[in-house]
Amino acid sequence: MAKGRRIVSISETAGADGMLAMLKHKGVSRREFLRFCAVIGATLAVPVEMVGKIADALASVRRPPVIWLEFQDCAGCTESFLRASRPTVAEIVLDLLSVDYHETIMAAAGRQAEEAREATIKTGGHLVIVEGSIPIKDGGLYCCVGGRTAMEILSEATRGAAAVIAVGNCAAFGGLAAAEPNPTGAVGVRDLVKGVPVINLPGCPVNAINITATVVHYLTFKSLPELDAWGRPLFAYGKRIHDNCERRAHFDAGQFVEAWGDEGHRKGWCLYKMGCKGPETYSNCPTVRWNEGINWPVGAGHGCVGCTQPGFWDTMTPFYRRLPTVPGFSVESTADKIGLGLAAAAAVGVAAHAVASSVRRKTKGTEES
Ligand code: SF4
Repeated sequence: MAKGRRIVSISETAGADGMLAMLKHKGVSRREFLRFCAVIGATLAVPVEMVGKIADALASVRRPPVIWLEFQDCAGCTESFLRASRPTVAEIVLDLLSVDYHETIMAAAGRQAEEAREATIKTGGHLVIVEGSIPIKDGGLYCCVGGRTAMEILSEATRGAAAVIAVGNCAAFGGLAAAEPNPTGAVGVRDLVKGVPVINLPGCPVNAINITATVVHYLTFKSLPELDAWGRPLFAYGKRIHDNCERRAHFDAGQFVEAWGDEGHRKGWCLYKMGCKGPETYSNCPTVRWNEGINWPVGAGHGCVGCTQPGFWDTMTPFYRRLPTVPGFSVESTADKIGLGLAAAAAVGVAAHAVASSVRRKTKGTEES
């Protein structure tokens, strides 16, 4: 954790009560709170001794103010964040933060809402969470809120901010709106925001646990976690889906689903031949799962669509076509040779995935022609 980037401008004077007092007020027991800290510690992959440090830090931390902006989005990340069973992670995190501005959930409207945002910006040291891509074509007119473009609002909101968290593939990499032919000129946050640390939490939608873990890391260690070349935290995006997949043994054994509903599908065999993009996708989905850890797409019988990868709408489609040959990974020949050579591919690690994605993008046109 010491290697994470230090954020010195965290606003520890903003907000009101400590976390523990607020949770007690809401009826969340200390046992539930410690269980939450343990889950987050596991997600962050910190040693178990650090759970106490997380608990101590959160128990006393003052809530940093947050501005949550929505631009070219479907509000799916907000929905993902809010839809959870009790005691909800979302509730606990919302209690960790002072969400001063969020178009979907705030009670204020109109001028009142704008003033809340302006006051937070004026104080500074806040977090900005961005959902949705930002159109830059034609002066940014394709996304306006209150008569101002997303570009203007983002620029203003990030002024004096401690950090920006881009949630979902749209905010991180442009997402669906940036898919070819991208008529609005949609881009991700990192293409526009300079001089403020930006952390990308892609996914379609983002997994709420990764927002929570990032915020907890920030509050506990006063720093952002270590990031990969795409600005994604390694604790969540450091390993491929394929590396931790529960169907991996079937891949290695050459047991593949050949048609939806066939015997292999009913037995939980590997979905690679049905188009699973797990071998090229970096995410902690298999370990943290979704909906409070109940299940995840591959567990439910559908292949991974690669939604945490840059440009996945262009680079990972058609979703139901098996991955082409990828130099450096040899995925196609690996499947045909019943897993031979996969161990070597797995060892390539984080540094290689940007190269692989780039190669895939270049080869896609050839594969589909
Ligand atoms: S190809 Fe997909 S389903 Fe098969 S083992 Fe890899 S990630 Fe799992």
